Amino acid sequence: MATASFDTARRAGSAVPAIEKTPEFRPEADAPLPGRRTSLVGLTRADLKARLLAVGVPEREGRMRSGQIWHWLNVRGARAFDEMTNVGKGLKALLAEHYTLDRPEVVSQQVSRDGTRKWLLRMAPTGAHDHNRGAEIECVYIPGPDRGTLCVSSQVGCTLTCSFCHTGTQRLVRNLSAAEIVSQLIVARDELGDFVGQMPSRDANGEAGRLVTNIVFMGMGEPLYNLDNVIDAVGVMSDQEGLGLSRRRITVSTSGVVPQMRRLGEEAHAMLAISLHAVRDDLRDELVPLNRKYPIADLLDACRRYPGLNNARRITFEYVMLKGVNDSDADARELVRLLKGIPAKINLIPFNPWPGSRYECSDWERIERFSEIVFNAGYASPVRTPRGRDILAACGQLKSETEKLRARARLMLEEGMAERMYAGGDED
Ligand code: SAH
Ligand code: SF4
Repeated sequence: MATASFDTARRAGSAVPAIEKTPEFRPEADAPLPGRRTSLVGLTRADLKARLLAVGVPEREGRMRSGQIWHWLNVRGARAFDEMTNVGKGLKALLAEHYTLDRPEVVSQQVSRDGTRKWLLRMAPTGAHDHNRGAEIECVYIPGPDRGTLCVSSQVGCTLTCSFCHTGTQRLVRNLSAAEIVSQLIVARDELGDFVGQMPSRDANGEAGRLVTNIVFMGMGEPLYNLDNVIDAVGVMSDQEGLGLSRRRITVSTSGVVPQMRRLGEEAHAMLAISLHAVRDDLRDELVPLNRKYPIADLLDACRRYPGLNNARRITFEYVMLKGVNDSDADARELVRLLKGIPAKINLIPFNPWPGSRYECSDWERIERFSEIVFNAGYASPVRTPRGRDILAACGQLKSETEKLRARARLMLEEGMAERMYAGGDED
């Protein structure tokens, strides 16, 4: 059976990004475990076609067949080959022999009081990097009055260690493949009934509207350390004959991997968000340690040169409000000065606490005062309402369940309580 890893083969031939030589680089998903059928879900058009050719579909048919299957996967959300009514029986049987339409397993779903949903997803096991277990990631859906935003992960864990971020306390296991990133959107559409044919009329005009309208790469991981796969994933998500999102509604957030920003703009045409969080290098070095490598001036230079930047396509600057750390009037004024000349939006994020974090969220009056200074300088400065706090689904609170359990086990071992945990007691 010819199901070798096409991604791996393709990557081997592609230009190696400079960042690969840095210690932050981590491996791709391995080839699938021997004897396991792989899933066709989430693949790029090119990879889907390659998989058809690999099982003997003739080249001249490959394009048409892969177009049909693409439609079933990405427009209709098909979960079984049998659903593909315009695909011949023989081909369906051949595909089912070699491939599946499996999605990542939904290990759990939590629904917040505010309607936010967090899914813990387990990827198919891929070999050494996963120790033959499926990697786990979290993905969050945030419904709003005029949009539904899906927050996706790009890596399992993160190599960067931003001091206020929960994900940063989990070591990086591996990069997610493009298909694994796209599968998060597929799972969300499955769970929400958001594929064509499943949707009731939702808007006032009686026209069907999609529940997931926006994507933000603000889950686990640093997207620009997995840029090849992020670019491919954005391509699949924004294919207008497929998942159909607008690239202007896909935002990639980075802590500031300067050398990769240009490629993101040129090849993904995605909207950019920068996790700025401080206006002085000494403080940003501490909050976002990557700043030691790419300081604020270099980062803002790269922003000024971001492809496609104009007043209709602004960069979002994220600024987490940390009590007594970065929230003074002087900080706000310096923020405005720094961003002068860059088409920008400023997003003030109340700090979301997590167990063991050393910061506190700024007081509400302080956030309002900060926001006023920014607003008076001409920036709309929405304060991002924390969503899903009660289920630890807010920004920077994501960390896989396994990691949480491990951390709890460590703590409990120290306290001599591990037995209670494995006996299923002590639920909090
Ligand atoms: N690694 C990327 C994207 C994921 S983090 C990045 O850093 O941009 C998504 C956003 O959540 C970032 O702006 C990050 O700084 C912010 N964030 C992390 N921890 C947070 C916390 N505890 N409270 C509020 N925002 C947080
Ligand atoms: Fe990684 Fe982003 Fe968290 Fe920093 S804020 S540790 S880059 S996920």
